[in-house]
Amino acid sequence: LIIIENLCKSFEDGDVLRNISFTIREGDLASIIGPSGCGKSTFLRCINCLELMDSGSVTVAGVTVSRKPGEVPSDEMLQKVHELRTEVGMVFQSYNLFPNKNLLQNIMLAPMVVKGMKKDEAHELGMKMLEKVGLKGFAQKYPSTLSGGQSQRAAIARALAMNPRVMLYDEPTSALDPELVGEVLQVMKDLDAEGMTQIIVTHEMKFAKDASDYIIFMDKGEIVEYEDGDILFANPKNDRTRAFLRHFV
Ligand code: ATP
Ligand code: MG
Repeated sequence: LIIIENLCKSFEDGDVLRNISFTIREGDLASIIGPSGCGKSTFLRCINCLELMDSGSVTVAGVTVSRKPGEVPSDEMLQKVHELRTEVGMVFQSYNLFPNKNLLQNIMLAPMVVKGMKKDEAHELGMKMLEKVGLKGFAQKYPSTLSGGQSQRAAIARALAMNPRVMLYDEPTSALDPELVGEVLQVMKDLDAEGMTQIIVTHEMKFAKDASDYIIFMDKGEIVEYEDGDILFANPKNDRTRAFLRHFV
C-alpha cells in the first residue's frame, strides 16, 4: 500500500535519509525504532510529504509523488502531494487539539471544512469516531479537561475522521504518564484488527515487539534491518541493531 523508492532527504547539516526503499503492505503494523536523530521523524514526514523529499518517490494507495534530484516542484507535483496527503492520517507526540473547541467539534472540523461534509453527517461521524477510541461520553468535553491518554485518543479519532488509508504516528505515547500509555496502544491494536495500515515511531519496545508485524530499525538515515519483533530481539543480524537493542534488555 506504501511504496518508497530511493528516498533521499538532507538538511543544511547533512544527509538525513539516504536512499531508502521500502514497501508496506495493506494492513501492516510496522514500528520504527532507532537512536535519536537517526531520521525517524523525517522519514514519517516524508511518507506523507509533510516534508518534501529531495529525490525519490513515495506512493500511497496508488498516488505517487516523485522527484528527481534538483527538480523544482511543479504544480502537478504539489497536486499529487495534496492527493497523497488525503490518504494519510498523522498523530504527533503533542496532541495539537484545538483548545477552544470541544472534542466533537475538534473532530467535525476537518471533514466539514476540507471535505465539505454537512454538519449533521459530521456530527454522526464524530460520535462514531469517539466511540471507536473509547471516548463516547466525552463529546462535549474540552481538551484542557482531559488526561494525556484521552487527548491522544481524541487526536487519533480526529485523524480517523478523514477516512485515511494509512495512519502514521510519531512517538504517540512519549508524552504520556506510564499508566496512560496502554490505552493509546490499545487503540492502535484495535485499528490493526480492523485492517488499518499503520506505521509507528516508538520507544515502546514491548509494544513494538508484541503488536507489530515487523520492526524497522533505522540508524544514520538508513533502514539497517527489518524483522519480526521476536526474531529481531532474539537474534539481531546487524551489529548496530544489536548495540541499540542492548539498551532495552
Ligand atoms: P528523535 O528520536 O530524537 O525524535 P529522529 O530519529 O526522529 O530523532 P529526526 O527528527 O528525523 O530524527 O532528525 C534527523 C536529523 O535531521 C537530525 O540531525 C536533525 O537535527 C535534522 N533535522 C530534522 N529536521 C530538520 C529541519 N527541519 N531542519 C534542519 N535539520 C533537521
Ligand atoms: Mg523524532
